[in-house]
Amino acid sequence: MAEQVISPDLNFVKDIIASGGESLKKCYQCSTCTVVCNVTPDDKPFPRKEMMYAQWGMKDKLVSNPDIWLCHQCSDCTAYCPRGAKPGEVLNAVRKLSIRHVSMVPLFARIVQDPKLIWLLFAIPIALFFVFMPHKSLEFIRFDDKMVYHMFAPAEPHMYAPFVLKMIFGLTAVFSILSALTGIKRLWSGMKAQAGDVKSGGNLTGDIISSAKTIFAHSKFADCNVNRLRQWGHLLLVYSFVGLSISGIWALIYSYLFNFTGPYPFTDPMKLLSQASMLAFIAGIVIILYNRFAQAGKAGMGSYFDWIFLTIVSGIGATGILALALRLANVSAGYAAFYLHVVFVWLLLAYAPYSKFAHLFYRTTAMVFARHTNRES
Ligand code: SF4
Ligand code: SF4
Repeated sequence: MAEQVISPDLNFVKDIIASGGESLKKCYQCSTCTVVCNVTPDDKPFPRKEMMYAQWGMKDKLVSNPDIWLCHQCSDCTAYCPRGAKPGEVLNAVRKLSIRHVSMVPLFARIVQDPKLIWLLFAIPIALFFVFMPHKSLEFIRFDDKMVYHMFAPAEPHMYAPFVLKMIFGLTAVFSILSALTGIKRLWSGMKAQAGDVKSGGNLTGDIISSAKTIFAHSKFADCNVNRLRQWGHLLLVYSFVGLSISGIWALIYSYLFNFTGPYPFTDPMKLLSQASMLAFIAGIVIILYNRFAQAGKAGMGSYFDWIFLTIVSGIGATGILALALRLANVSAGYAAFYLHVVFVWLLLAYAPYSKFAHLFYRTTAMVFARHTNRES
């Protein structure tokens, strides 16, 4: 048998522990986790081997490992591990470090992943919109020298989307897309390098389509046992994001092609779609939060990485509803609620390729790669 020299990276072990994988040293390699995981492929299954890599600090084996992304964090392995090593949470911590590894701007990954930088995470959009929203609302707010007063009590409460907001969000979207594409490219290259001479299947388009079908049906989640309810919460969130994205593009078409900038009647199809998506969004968040607490004993409570993401998406829902309710009640504080809503939406968009949201890009990449290399059919 060929000899292999292992050089453990102890700093990487410390990073995993600091990222929520503090239980990893309890693992004694019994393989129960691999046996109970219904999501893993049969050939070279996970997560036992990843637990070993993590214990040894084998960073190169982990940060570009498609298996850490094929894991759907269903927590079956965590529930059944006889040692309480919580492999599901360890893999979650490794995914966080993988995001950092492939990120285009590592500082962004640090800001959203490090609890010590939570003040900076929120300070950036709070300052950004505090500076820009009132100034560019001049034409709507009949600005005088009381900038703060106007910021929180505009004369025309529905005039909430001046040009500068569209510019900020447009540029942020470009940054996010570039970040995601860079990360996907780096992850793909890393997975290819790690796979070595594994043959690819050839039909990349077919692999992308079949992976997309699996994602939209959430069929992998259906294989989980402990966290069955999570499938529905996750599914509602995915479709609500799709619905909100379509209604956002629809609103842009109204604005730029038909010069129709709102307020939109509640019976408008675009408005109906956005409201239905918002309801699905809220239901998804409620199910995920309920499930998180209900299953905490078996599946663990998650780490800061999970909770900051849940805080941002919950913040979007809560401030969105509040802003709408206050606007309907014609209360000027609706603008303050809308200001906070804009802050939360920007956080989600700007940090999408750096936060837990990035699993949308990287799990999809890993699923396509697994099909393309015949690891999964
Ligand atoms: S994580 Fe738990 S179940 Fe998996 S190999 Fe280690 S001790 Fe066994
Ligand atoms: S969390 Fe679920 S999918 Fe991930 S390794 Fe454990 S059992 Fe498998």
